[in-house]
Amino acid sequence: MTIQWFPGHMTRAKRQIQEKLKLIDITIELLDARVPLSSRNPMVDEILAGKPRLIILNKSDLADPRITEQWITYFKYEGHEVIAVDSSTGTKVNEIPEKARELLREKIERQLSKGINPRAVRGLIVGIPNVGKSTLINRLAGRNIAITGDRPGVTKGQQWIKVGTEMELLDTPGILWPKFEDELVGYRLAMTGAIREQVLNVEDIAFFALRDLAERYLPALQERFELDITSIDPANSDDIVQLMEAIGRKRGCLLSGGVVNLEKTAGIILREMRAGKLGRITYEAPFPDHAE
Ligand code: GDP
Repeated sequence: MTIQWFPGHMTRAKRQIQEKLKLIDITIELLDARVPLSSRNPMVDEILAGKPRLIILNKSDLADPRITEQWITYFKYEGHEVIAVDSSTGTKVNEIPEKARELLREKIERQLSKGINPRAVRGLIVGIPNVGKSTLINRLAGRNIAITGDRPGVTKGQQWIKVGTEMELLDTPGILWPKFEDELVGYRLAMTGAIREQVLNVEDIAFFALRDLAERYLPALQERFELDITSIDPANSDDIVQLMEAIGRKRGCLLSGGVVNLEKTAGIILREMRAGKLGRITYEAPFPDHAE
């Protein structure tokens, strides 16, 4: 699904989230662990202002675990609680309710000291399309899927999903838009499959992907595509094009006259990358000295 975001849509999305904020105690900001910055809404601090926030690095099963640790340090330094999870299998998802309560500890203790029994913590999941919001909601819900309001006989409006005994979630997540004004953000989202390829040129997406891979994961590239290229300057476009051509030749993507079919090559690179054939890869690192 590709959503076209126009200013009117953004204003509406923002307003919808802000209305939901009135109902909840905590926001759960979902990011893609492979591209935590590109999958982050540029206005998220403004939109979620004032609410305690838990950051979830989702799809961490696909990301480089070493860089995920760096991102955890980075977001903690920013003052957030962070958990890296895999919503598709549920790894670490069960830590979310406990972390949410930790974030609200002071409020809960205040209530307890007044003799009030605190109710379940109410949360809202927010994130850009395809980051895994529905998958996480379903995972957290287990069998407690809420009855949605758009069926006959069921009141329209918000539904709460119980997550164990101590947390409740709004059944519809807050949908945010990505930072489209930065061209690289669009390409990084396309690399991970969050934006459909048709929107951008497949060769361009593969070009940016190869540039990131050459910078951080050259050994994985060499191994996967059996390349004898040993030194590449990721800042040099010619080097990246040569790399793509070398991959195309290895995979027999040739047109008549021995010219490499770059479109087909690009498709292969993206498909294998997304399928994890090059290993667990993160395209954005918080610290520049992460390379081996
Ligand atoms: P939403 O648009 O934010 O609600 O995203 P979805 O929940 O529909 O997820 C988008 C795609 O990502 C789906 O194909 C999911 O199966 C996949 N997905 C979601 N979470 C994970 C995860 O933690 N790991 C992996 N490998 N895939 C995930």
